Amino acid sequence: MKFQILTLFPEFFSSFIQTGLISKAIQKSIIDIELIDVKIFSDKGRADDYPIGGGESMIISYTPLKKALQSLKKLGHVVCLSPQGEIWNFKKAKGFSTQYKTVTLICGRYGGIDLRLIQDFVHEEISIGDYVLNGGETASLVLIESCSRFLENFMKNRKSHQKDSFENSLLKSPQWTKPNSIEGHTIPKILLSGHHKKIKEFRYYSSLWLTYLKKPYLLEKKSLFLKDLFKAKNYLKQFSPLELKALGLKKEKADLVLIKKK
Ligand code: SAM
Repeated sequence: MKFQILTLFPEFFSSFIQTGLISKAIQKSIIDIELIDVKIFSDKGRADDYPIGGGESMIISYTPLKKALQSLKKLGHVVCLSPQGEIWNFKKAKGFSTQYKTVTLICGRYGGIDLRLIQDFVHEEISIGDYVLNGGETASLVLIESCSRFLENFMKNRKSHQKDSFENSLLKSPQWTKPNSIEGHTIPKILLSGHHKKIKEFRYYSSLWLTYLKKPYLLEKKSLFLKDLFKAKNYLKQFSPLELKALGLKKEKADLVLIKKK
């Protein structure tokens, strides 16, 4: 999968492309990242200008961005990172990774981008959340990483993304590593039993119940899960208060609720 990034600050990406799985994926040609410095397509030495009608922040001009887009050998699915776009999520990331071979990312800065450029060239505007960043660069990292995880051989274990949160509309069940006990914490004993079927059952029910408590909207209309919720609660109620605490849960009257942080 190829990502073409149009930015005023290509240096922003240097540590990103040299770090961890992204760097390995570039080396193995699983992904390709092409950085396009929009500034060099400006005649005036800068790609932004004053907002028409007045205002505090500079706006990135139409022409340098158009020239930068036209300099590309092949244009991909053109995305403008914007707080006004559709909110990015797991489903969008998975969809992009299967639908598009090349994604062209336009990163805004300052007050944003001349709307006419968006109207003429952009296929969709994407936001990473309802807040305002200084630039689209941070958002483009989010988009690239979340898409890349679905690509074959991106992760050592090909199937590991299939067990991540959001896959099958569930949050991943909690995890611990050695030592088994630390600072008064303990872990559900069943995980030490070596009994794979029982561990699988524990992971399914804890994942289902915690999804219900933390992000119930993921389960909406999932009749299979809704059917299992009652079973999940009853199953977890058999665990000791300490084991429930390990999961961040406590019994409250007939219910099993999240322990709230103070
Ligand atoms: N004036 C714009 C507004 O209020 O809608 C915000 C401009 S923002 C300071 C500069 C750039 O950061 C935007 O053009 C966009 O590329 C990027 N950006 C800011 N927030 C974003 C978000 N939540 N998701 C994606 N990109 C964002």
